Amino acid sequence: MTAEIIAVGTELLLGDILNTNAQFLARELAALGISVYYQSVVGDNAGRLEALVRQARERSDLLVFTGGLGPTDDDLTKQTVAKAYGDTLRFDPEELEKIRAFFERWGRTMPPSNEKQAYVPVNGRKIENHNGTAPGMIFEDTKCKGKYAVLLPGPPKEMQPMFCDTVRPWLAKMSDGVLFSRTLRVTGVGESHLEPKISDLLEAANPTSALYAKMGEVVIRVTAKAATLEKAQEMCAQRAQELKERLGDVVYTDVFDSLEETVVGTLKRTKKTVATAESCTGGLLSQRLTAVAGASEVFSFGTCTYSNEMKQKILGVPAQMLADVGAVSPQVAAAMARGVRACSGAEIGVGITGIAGPGGGTPEKPVGLVYVSVCDARATYVQKLLMTNRTRDSVRTWASQHALEMVRRLALGLEQPGCDCFENGQAVEMSDHEGLRNV
Ligand code: ATP
Repeated sequence: MTAEIIAVGTELLLGDILNTNAQFLARELAALGISVYYQSVVGDNAGRLEALVRQARERSDLLVFTGGLGPTDDDLTKQTVAKAYGDTLRFDPEELEKIRAFFERWGRTMPPSNEKQAYVPVNGRKIENHNGTAPGMIFEDTKCKGKYAVLLPGPPKEMQPMFCDTVRPWLAKMSDGVLFSRTLRVTGVGESHLEPKISDLLEAANPTSALYAKMGEVVIRVTAKAATLEKAQEMCAQRAQELKERLGDVVYTDVFDSLEETVVGTLKRTKKTVATAESCTGGLLSQRLTAVAGASEVFSFGTCTYSNEMKQKILGVPAQMLADVGAVSPQVAAAMARGVRACSGAEIGVGITGIAGPGGGTPEKPVGLVYVSVCDARATYVQKLLMTNRTRDSVRTWASQHALEMVRRLALGLEQPGCDCFENGQAVEMSDHEGLRNV
């Protein structure tokens, strides 16, 4: 079955609201094994809506509409679709009573214009709306059996329950298969490094695997279509395993939704705690960690030491070091990590110092230069990152992403690629790090 999602509403065309209904429906239809080939947005205009319905009806078996079921004159969806699908509307007194009762529950009198919402299909079926006044509806094409139009209200809090309670079970009975997706997340290496290792799997048909580059990571989405959910899940699990074997430990999760969730999960599993000392990221790392429910088990202390004075006072960074090599240096990043570890008693300390820009750069220390350090009882690792031509936000996000990945790797005892390693007690050198990362 092929489907098209049609969102009706001029405010969508003007960019006043985001078409989140299309995203929700696209995911739901994919999970049902229904292929969505088109998504459209059309304003509250009778002529253009009619033309789109005519075209979409030709090319898709199922049209799912949201919006335009309200009481005002510009709400035109049901009249237009009824006409195209060879149906008509009838007044439903029972529906009118429900709408009236809905208003009364809120202590209000129903405006006469809402009577319009009590018109339902003669041949098609209506769908009850428990969260609003506009009923949804399903039309079957009288000239072409097996082609349907589903109409849902615009507000997501009305549309989503209606879809889940009524439309999804109805579609599940008609669908010829189930789609299931599993997501692998990779950080620390780019798309172009991954692709050659898995190019044959990226071309394979079922399951399909697709790469998407996101801020600070690459997502690999594996999707299988099968007769049952169990079978589709098994196919995805097998392909995910194959991908992990080929790509190694840069795949940080195929379970969690983000790196911070993975790090918190990893720290819990390895029974380790972390403390953070941040300068240019201004608390972003601790914000990301503490956004994960249950982070208090593994996150003990986070400090935003922006000034040199606070780096000395809170973390014990030597004044002489700051004077000699400056705050943005591998020495200071390491001293921050060691300092926060010492004063918190956490197993892992993190230090981040850098120049997020747009001002403050020099030829020796340009905007985008960031040092990230992690340490545990045994050793201190420092990574030099050079994130040129990036915005302040992007530099901060990338720096926090690298720090999270370094914490994950340290907790698991994995190598720290691109980092210089110093035994604890050993002085951190100001070298032109082999580990320089242009990211
Ligand atoms: P109502 O019964 O409230 O009039 P309706 O079916 O006529 O509902 P619209 O008037 O088109 O729906 O939209 C009502 C509200 O629903 C919009 O102001 C917006 O907040 C939300 N909405 C509509 N379409 C979408 C969409 N595609 N994605 C997200 N929100 C939407």
